[in-house]
Amino acid sequence: EEAARANEIWKLYDAQRSHAASWQLSLMGRLDFAIDSGEIWVAYQPKVLLATREIVGMEALVRWNHPMVGPLSPDQFIAAAETHNKIAALTYFVLDRALTDLARLQAAGHALGVSVNLSPKMLEERDLVERVAEALARHGVDAADVTLEITEIGDLLGIPGCIQTMQRLVATGVKLSIDDYGTGNATLEYLARLPSHEVKIDRTFITDLDENRDNLILVRATLEMAHRLGRSVVAEGVENEGVLRLLKKLGCDVAQGYLLSRPIPLPDLIVLLEDSAAPDRVRLVIS
Ligand code: C2E
Ligand code: MG
Ligand code: MG
Ligand code: MG
Repeated sequence: EEAARANEIWKLYDAQRSHAASWQLSLMGRLDFAIDSGEIWVAYQPKVLLATREIVGMEALVRWNHPMVGPLSPDQFIAAAETHNKIAALTYFVLDRALTDLARLQAAGHALGVSVNLSPKMLEERDLVERVAEALARHGVDAADVTLEITEIGDLLGIPGCIQTMQRLVATGVKLSIDDYGTGNATLEYLARLPSHEVKIDRTFITDLDENRDNLILVRATLEMAHRLGRSVVAEGVENEGVLRLLKKLGCDVAQGYLLSRPIPLPDLIVLLEDSAAPDRVRLVIS
C-alpha cells in the first residue's frame, strides 16, 4: 500500500514535471520544507593552489535530494528560486551552512577558505550586506576566508547600485569572485570596474584547453589582464592532467575540477584534507 501511494505521488510529480511552469511552482512550494528537513544540503568542491598542491578552499554547491524525483542539480532549481523570490532564503541557508562547516574545519586545524555562490539577483536585496556581516560575526569566521562568487552572466553592471553593493561587501572584509568569466558580457572595462579579488574562468574555456588553440589564446589573455589588475585567477572544469600542467605553466593560481575532486559531502572532504596533510598519502598529485 505504501508503495502504491508512493507510485501515485511519483506519477503526480512526473505529470507536473512535463509542464515546466507548474513543476517549478511545486518545487518552490516545497523549498522551505526542503531546507528545514535536510533534503537540501551543501556539497563542497576543493580549490587547489597550483603552486603548492594544497587545498586552499572549498566551493559550496547546493544540492537537493528530492524524495520523489531523486537528486536535483542547482541548474534545475536556482533559476526558479530567483523568479519565485526564494533565492534569498536559499542563499542564506547555504551561507550559514558553509560558515558553520568552515569554522569546524578551521577549529580542526585545516587552513582553508570557503566560496559561496551569490546570484546577481542577490545584489538587489536591501539587507544583503548586513546579513553577510551578521553571519560572519555569528560564526566568528574571519571575513578574509570567505569568497562570494558572483556569476557574470547577463549584465551585472545593469543592476542598480551594483558597484556600490559590491564595494560594501568588500568593506565587510569578504572577497569577491567573478564566476563563469568569459560567458557573459564581460569586457576589459567590466573586469576593471567591478571590485573583485578573483576571476574564475568558465569551464567551457578550460576543459579542452590542451587541444583548443582559441581557448588557449583567450585564457592566456585573461590571465595576463586579470593579474595586471591584481586579481587572482581560478580555472574551473579541470578534467585532465594535461590541462592541469598547462594551467600551472601559464601561471594560473588555483584550479578546480573533476580531476582533483568532484563536489563531495563534508565528511569526504575532511578525509581528503587529512590525506593531503599526510605527505606520504598525497592524493591530489600535480606534477
Ligand atoms: P558554478 O558556481 O560555476 O559551479 C561550478 C559547476 O561546475 C558546479 O556544478 C560543479 O559541480 C561543476 N564542475 C566542477 N568541476 C567540474 C568539471 O571538472 N567538469 C564539469 N563538467 N563540471 C564541473 P553544479 O554544482 O551543478 O552547479 C551549477 C551552478 O549552479 C553553479 O555554477 C552555480 O552558478 C549554481 N549554484 C550552485 N550552488 C549555488 C548556490 O548555493 N547559490 C547560487 N545562487 N547558485 C548556486
Ligand atoms: Mg561558483
Ligand atoms: Mg563557475
Ligand atoms: Mg557555472
